[in-house]
Amino acid sequence: MPVTVRFAPSPTGNIHIGNARTALFNWLFAMKNGGNFVQRFDDTDVARSKQEYADAILYDLHWLGIFQDATEYQSRRFDIYGEAVEKLKRAGQLYACYETPEELDLRRKIRRTRGLPPVYGREALQFSHAQIAEYEADGRKPHWRFLLPNFRNDPFDTERTEVGWTDLVRGEETVDLASLSDPILIREDGTFLYTLPSVADDIDMNITHVIRGDDHVTNTAVQIALFRALGAEPPAFGHHNLLTASTGEALSKRTGALSIASLRESGLEPMTVASLAVLTGTSENVVAASSMTELAKRFDLATASKSAAKFDPEDLNALNRDLLRQMPFSEARDRLSAWGILGDQAEPFWLAVRGNLDRLADATVWWRIVKQGPEAAPELSEDDTEYVRKAFDMLPPEPWDGGTFKVWIDEVKEQTGRKGKMLFAPIRLVLTGQDSGPELADLLPLLGREGIRARRP
Ligand code: GLU
Repeated sequence: MPVTVRFAPSPTGNIHIGNARTALFNWLFAMKNGGNFVQRFDDTDVARSKQEYADAILYDLHWLGIFQDATEYQSRRFDIYGEAVEKLKRAGQLYACYETPEELDLRRKIRRTRGLPPVYGREALQFSHAQIAEYEADGRKPHWRFLLPNFRNDPFDTERTEVGWTDLVRGEETVDLASLSDPILIREDGTFLYTLPSVADDIDMNITHVIRGDDHVTNTAVQIALFRALGAEPPAFGHHNLLTASTGEALSKRTGALSIASLRESGLEPMTVASLAVLTGTSENVVAASSMTELAKRFDLATASKSAAKFDPEDLNALNRDLLRQMPFSEARDRLSAWGILGDQAEPFWLAVRGNLDRLADATVWWRIVKQGPEAAPELSEDDTEYVRKAFDMLPPEPWDGGTFKVWIDEVKEQTGRKGKMLFAPIRLVLTGQDSGPELADLLPLLGREGIRARRP
């Protein structure tokens, strides 16, 4: 069976960088194994799910460089879940419960005072027909529980039943099914909780690897039991550590903090965001990978650590600078040309400025400086003004290349006796209006003799 993974968010908000970590882990895993990536929207909660969020999630994934092989919506697949329900009911593995939350709460308290674990005691299995008829007459609707296979013959006589899996990230995991309550699969109002649709879909979509956050580890044993109850072999599971802010605080879809949309709008490169989302909290160094192929080379599920992956959003800025510093012109060309940075000078310009950018769009600032000069005439002392005039009079004849600056400045040094900062700073200031920036040796050929003379103080 070909490797098939899925990313299964609920479309109830914008995805943040932590959600992107899950999507990317799946995507890179599929990439490395020649597999398929299914985009599945867990939108059974129709009140909170919105198509506009699903669309925004797809937009974010595509921006990051994730392209799905198939898109599925759970809200369009209720037939499949209905079939699974029938199958479980026929096998006696799904049973109706009529207790109210208050009744359940009271029972839990009683169990606790008796020193029993606060799991559901399966009382509903003993309801008589008359009792059920009475509940129904009262207008109570049942919720439905999955009868966990944690007993031999008598469901009231549970026994230790270990369900284990070799987690692709965490190694061997086992859970005793006797320590869990029979999970509710269907609510009183007939709506599904996440468990059954997820498993039914994983079966129907031939999902081979479920890769998700470690907040789902505790669901896994129940899901494995459900796969088997539905007659399917469970897939492999991998639970990665969650990305948290440096304070340790969990990221939330609701607050919009560190949403992919906000990171995109702040001008960061997609590979900056992807690199940080994937490499933080692994044994790999967090560096800016220039492409998904590069990132895939550094990615291995087994290198993710078991504790939270803390990160500082400030790191995004440093990574972005690194990424831009290495970005070849071919990759920047289209965006530069959309900003009017084109022609013969576009490439040497890019190579000159790329090491000085926080964001790609900062290139437009430097383009303006190169083409039109500093925004305002820089303030210079009389001494420096004299010095710069003198230096400009010494400009060598064209054509100019990368070596011209050295020839010129050596001459200026000799003639004026200036050294170090005194030698360079006033020239840089007059040419660019800035104290720092691209190498003057690279800027000189871009400015040209005329361009420089036009800046003469
Ligand atoms: N909709 C679930 C979530 O967003 C999916 C979990 C899973 O991958 O199984 O947490």
